[in-house]
Amino acid sequence: MAGSSRAVPAALTLTTADGAPVEVRRSARRRRTVAAFWENGTAVVAIPASFSRAQEHEWVHRMLEKLRLQGERGTRGAGRRRPRSDAALAAHAAELSAKYFGGRAVPSSVRWVGNQNSRWGSATPSEGTIRLSDKLQPMPQWVIDYVLLHELAHLLVAGHDAAFWRLLEAYPDTARAKAFLEGVSFATSRGLTPGDDDDVDGPPVS
Ligand SMILES: [Zn+2]
Repeated sequence: MAGSSRAVPAALTLTTADGAPVEVRRSARRRRTVAAFWENGTAVVAIPASFSRAQEHEWVHRMLEKLRLQGERGTRGAGRRRPRSDAALAAHAAELSAKYFGGRAVPSSVRWVGNQNSRWGSATPSEGTIRLSDKLQPMPQWVIDYVLLHELAHLLVAGHDAAFWRLLEAYPDTARAKAFLEGVSFATSRGLTPGDDDDVDGPPVS
């Protein structure tokens, strides 16, 4: 936290849709562009100092929406999302098992791991344990859900036979998520990195 006596008028206290604090930063150096990014859990929207209150209002809302979508799409940058806990992951796994597998897949533990270099997830059916690579964390939720369902399905069917894939047909995003992960692997293996599009063109400022 910064200094002790920084008064923030209540009317200007903004939060993102999921409750993170928002800071609007006016910059005299900024002429035409607006940017939004995460900084220590705060959503920062940087705008030109010359913006009117109406422009500020419009652009702050627009950029917060952009940040939110970025979070959903899970693009770049560590720290854009808050870290997810193993407890939340286990609870989510139980929900997915109930929704798609009639609750038949019951893992004994579900946790994030940081040392899976080549696999997105793994399961040990004899022990009922599931591990997901933390590289999945910035990815869209529907991709994480696919990997989680894939590993939950392995608690019911060990191999990748027809019975296994029939289980996953219940999840509508299976094909899309497989393609997404193939794309990530393709890009990673070729050292492709995403461009930086944090700065978008703002309105012309006279
Ligand atoms: Zn598998």
